[in-house]
Amino acid sequence: MLKTRITEMFGVARPIVQGGLMWIARAELTSAVANAGGMGFMTALSFADPQALRAEIRKCRRMTDNPFGINLTFLPTLRPPDYPAYIQVCIEEGIRFIETAGRNPEPYLPQLKSAGIKVIHKCTSVRHALKAEKIGCDAVSIDGFEAAGHPGEDDVTSLILVPLTRDALRIPIVASGGFADGRGLVAALGLGADGMNMGTRFVATREAPVHDNVKRALVDNDERATRLIMRTLRNTERVLHNPTVDTVLEIERRGDTRIEDIAPYVSGLIGKTMLEQGDTQKGILSAGQCMGLIHDIPTCKELLDGIMAQAESIIKERFGQVLG
Ligand code: NAD
Repeated sequence: MLKTRITEMFGVARPIVQGGLMWIARAELTSAVANAGGMGFMTALSFADPQALRAEIRKCRRMTDNPFGINLTFLPTLRPPDYPAYIQVCIEEGIRFIETAGRNPEPYLPQLKSAGIKVIHKCTSVRHALKAEKIGCDAVSIDGFEAAGHPGEDDVTSLILVPLTRDALRIPIVASGGFADGRGLVAALGLGADGMNMGTRFVATREAPVHDNVKRALVDNDERATRLIMRTLRNTERVLHNPTVDTVLEIERRGDTRIEDIAPYVSGLIGKTMLEQGDTQKGILSAGQCMGLIHDIPTCKELLDGIMAQAESIIKERFGQVLG
């Protein structure tokens, strides 16, 4: 049992967060995380329109009695969504927690706060974390350079970023990027975080609604098998290395890249097809360096039970021995 400000804030048993995962964080995965005692966020933009999100929230409620939240990502996108309409559905459905990401959530905070929703903002630098605290976010999830997806442009690893964020902020923080096991959880707490976020690790679980080839790719590849695309657009994404990624990097090397040049390769709709059909050589799959730590495809309960047992054993036994 590890009690932190994050378990208190979300009302969950374990300080482990499943953050937004485009197309993947749907009811099957998020309810499994919730039932295993963690805090899961379903990714709003995975659903074609706000009414589809509403249906998924109701589905998730049927699958778990435990708390869960919704992720809203404000990064650039090829298909700009109606954010206020997604937020309105969350409010109407009684969602109490929203994870924002990608851009400053300030324009949406009045709508969220007047509904009593607690906001955890996912960001990649101390200055953005400070801004999140200043504008009234309730917690911050801080993403190190190891992270899958969009780790920002500063290239600061979790080992540095998490303690610096702890020093700078008063609100609870969740460490994200590079975390996949009980050792990571103890490290996150040691660095001053109130919990840890995992993304890639949750994709390689039985309940993640993706093709088995995708899960196997995360097990079979190691910590060296990621690449950074879209650096030239200042929208860096850490992804699994495959032939599509090589094509994108080749286009970027030519210079003066425009999103139109690479959109046919990086489009999320192609990535969705990969997740459904399992051809991991075609399309983009966000993946973190923690792939090197992923060796199996457990259920979420097995995963979280194992992480907690490992963390508690390190704290009681290993630290006990070291202290003498
Ligand atoms: P999409 O199909 O809309 O776009 C594909 C990629 O191109 C995304 O990475 C997007 O950020 C980027 N992009 C689009 N327009 C751009 C522009 N004008 N300038 C620079 N980059 C641009 O994306 P999707 O896969 O359907 O995902 C929807 C949203 O979720 C996007 O905003 C995406 O960035 C985000 N996402 C976030 C993460 C994460 O790590 N937080 C992971 C996957 C997707």
